[in-house]
Amino acid sequence: MSSFARFYSYSNMLVLKFGGTSVGSAQRMQALVKLTVDDRPKIVVLSAMSGTTNSLVEIANALYAKENDKAKSLIDALEKKYRGVIEELYTTDAGKQKGHELIDSHFNYLRSFTLDLFTANEEKAVLAQGELLSTAMYHYFLAEKGTKSVLLPAPDFMRIDENEEPDLAYIESHLRKELEKHPGEILFITQGYICRNAFGEIDNLKRGGSDYTATLIGAALQSPEIQIWTDIDGMHNNDPRVVDKTFPVTELSFEEAAELAYFGAKILHPTCVLPAQKRKVPVRLLNTMQPEAKGTVIRENISDDRITAVAAKDGITAIKIKSGRMLLAYGFLRSVFEVFERYRTPIDMITTSEVAVSLTIDNPKHLDAIVEELNAFGSVEVDRDQAILCIVGRFGAEKQGYASRVFDALKEIPIRMISYGGSEHNISILVETKRKNDALKALNKGLFNL
Ligand code: ADP
Ligand code: ASP
Ligand code: MG
Repeated sequence: MSSFARFYSYSNMLVLKFGGTSVGSAQRMQALVKLTVDDRPKIVVLSAMSGTTNSLVEIANALYAKENDKAKSLIDALEKKYRGVIEELYTTDAGKQKGHELIDSHFNYLRSFTLDLFTANEEKAVLAQGELLSTAMYHYFLAEKGTKSVLLPAPDFMRIDENEEPDLAYIESHLRKELEKHPGEILFITQGYICRNAFGEIDNLKRGGSDYTATLIGAALQSPEIQIWTDIDGMHNNDPRVVDKTFPVTELSFEEAAELAYFGAKILHPTCVLPAQKRKVPVRLLNTMQPEAKGTVIRENISDDRITAVAAKDGITAIKIKSGRMLLAYGFLRSVFEVFERYRTPIDMITTSEVAVSLTIDNPKHLDAIVEELNAFGSVEVDRDQAILCIVGRFGAEKQGYASRVFDALKEIPIRMISYGGSEHNISILVETKRKNDALKALNKGLFNL
């Protein structure tokens, strides 16, 4: 095949990602055949079976704590679950044997950590086992049915740099190299979530990271479409875990989707929209339990003014710095931001008055050190257990009426901070976490009449 032909065929490849519940049982894996096996070239990205990554986190915590007996019993329980899936998934003796050998090797590997030193590197290796298992199980399952697929090891092409950011240029060149090893193949299966870091060690894209794997692959290959298959029919207008009546939003702009994902809509990993947005690859959110449902498409140029959806992010800490020196002073905010920069702590919201600045962070790891440094600028107050409500849409040039609708809906809820006008797509409001659910329900009523 000429290099032009190869390039052409890769840019024609769809990327389909299936989340934990979509591979969560033998039946669910069997149901994937209908969605993944046809003539269209594609890369299928799989998460770990649902519950597995949580179990691996528990196992890693026990190993850290040197509670080896506890770790062993957690490993035994998880292995038992996988043995059951193998028996159900495969129909032939040869298939079952291959499946059990796969389980032997991954669970013996997990047990080996009960004997050794356990550090952050070993933890990452433990967390990677879920996706390695699910992809190999599905690949063997297809083989048993006579369908050829290629298992692409994600650590061979998926990489984060020294700032823990995906390295798209590296991913692009290495993924192409891996694909070129299999000319003429049209069905590739790879692990979501796992990658290598700048030191070449096994690492991951943080919880929910399989979505990110899919959008990075789609961006790297400039795919026609990235499909995220999950257990709900698209991005809903509000958090369906909290609010009873919600509905799927048919279309979202990249900006709207990025804000919703970052501010708590669990259906998407917080930063997974960015690679797709960068390369303008549409992302479709679809439901494996209801494949005919329309779902949501995320794409460019959605221009209608509207309030589209709301989401909420917990675990926020608000910090207020009050200082007489801020009055008429330039350079004050820079000094404040530099403190956060030094501790590599991103700021989500910010509001200022003439004598004070309030901002929020979602990573309190260096909070004490940050507060100590900020004390040099004035008095510092810290409020933990806050939540950011994020109202997303397109608030056009005139911007009439949007803010009043939001505040009217929230009239019973005490508000700690407001951020409006930072972009055309977002109004952020800080409330105490204990009022978050009431606030989401009130917004559903006030903004969507539900
Ligand atoms: P997967 O395992 O497929 O990645 P996730 O559990 O990560 O699935 O994401 C799907 C879940 O996201 C849904 O079951 C739903 O409870 C939750 N969710 C939270 N906010 C939203 C929203 N605005 N729209 C749709 N789903 C949402
Ligand atoms: N298995 C990983 C997790 O549970 C990644 C994912 O499912 O997206 O976080
Ligand atoms: Mg997810």
